[in-house]
Amino acid sequence: CGIIGIVGTAPVADRLVESLKRLEYRGYDSAGIATLEKGHLSRRRAEGKLRNLDAVLREAPLEGHIGIGHTRWATHGRPSVANAHPHATTEVAVVHNGIIENFRELRDELLESGANFESETDTEVVAHLVTRELRGGRGPVDAVAAALPRLQGAFALAFLFDGEENLLIGARKGSPLAIGYGNGEMYLGSDAIALAPFTDTISYLDDGDWAVLSTASAEIRNSANARVTRAVQKTTTGS
Ligand code: GLU
Repeated sequence: CGIIGIVGTAPVADRLVESLKRLEYRGYDSAGIATLEKGHLSRRRAEGKLRNLDAVLREAPLEGHIGIGHTRWATHGRPSVANAHPHATTEVAVVHNGIIENFRELRDELLESGANFESETDTEVVAHLVTRELRGGRGPVDAVAAALPRLQGAFALAFLFDGEENLLIGARKGSPLAIGYGNGEMYLGSDAIALAPFTDTISYLDDGDWAVLSTASAEIRNSANARVTRAVQKTTTGS
């Protein structure tokens, strides 16, 4: 299970998959990526090995200079294309490692307010929670800020928003997530190995942190929404 995100200036689909291949060592049962194509969310997912996702992408390539990717180790819902991440609404796509412990309660609440669920995962509640905030008039950053305190359990999350070609948001609690600093690009990744093809300059988020990335900046906030800085490290994993 692993996460990668790129907010960049060059096509990302191949690079997302390359990074996911470096995360294979963690184990997984399915994989997927989402990008913005001409500003709009588009995703490709496959059960099984990354070569299956490669084959899907050969048939139906994804354009875009911003995207997120995921390898899944199923905890809630069998391995299938429908349960593979990213999970998405028209407004937002999300990848998640970990478990949302209170997903049943959240799902019931969201069903009540009209959400349509397409998977059996715990993760999908996160997409619908953020979507409800967006539809209620909040911007992406405020929508994530409103949704995160509702989530119990362990998570590393990465969010991609329809129409937002210069915005990635990541969050972590109980599962690792790092920021990578590139040359005119920024990255989110489960670890330094995932980020190694792109950069050797990273910051690990602390527990409860979340981060707002653009091609040129990274703003990190803690669980109290206060701006914080985290040590920038040089890694030696090589590329
Ligand atoms: N709990 C989520 C799921 O089953 C994420 C699993 C993972 O960490 O890959 O889809």
